Amino acid sequence: MSWDKKNIETTNWFNKKYYENVALKVKKHDDDDQQDKRLKNLKCKCCYYLKGDMISGQAFTTSQCENCGVDISNPTTSTNKICEKCSKEHNLCVKCGGNLD
Ligand SMILES: [Zn+2]
Ligand SMILES: [Zn+2]
Repeated sequence: MSWDKKNIETTNWFNKKYYENVALKVKKHDDDDQQDKRLKNLKCKCCYYLKGDMISGQAFTTSQCENCGVDISNPTTSTNKICEKCSKEHNLCVKCGGNLD
């Protein structure tokens, strides 16, 4: 077989690294070790620690606040659901609309 032992070992290594990376994120999520920074960013623990912004592209996009309908400017293609004003008013995550705490 051409998918040899070395391929499998390399894949296993990457899988292990992936697991460690996820486990670290989960730990940070549970400890909430950057709470100040997270709340300044108006993001819930899930969005801040687990989802991150890694999957988004660097394009400028706009969306509408799901609560008040105002236009939101987003610096990436990963758009926000809630505007800053509503987030602060109702203690909601700008990304997903869940509670901040
Ligand atoms: Zn709003
Ligand atoms: Zn969120």
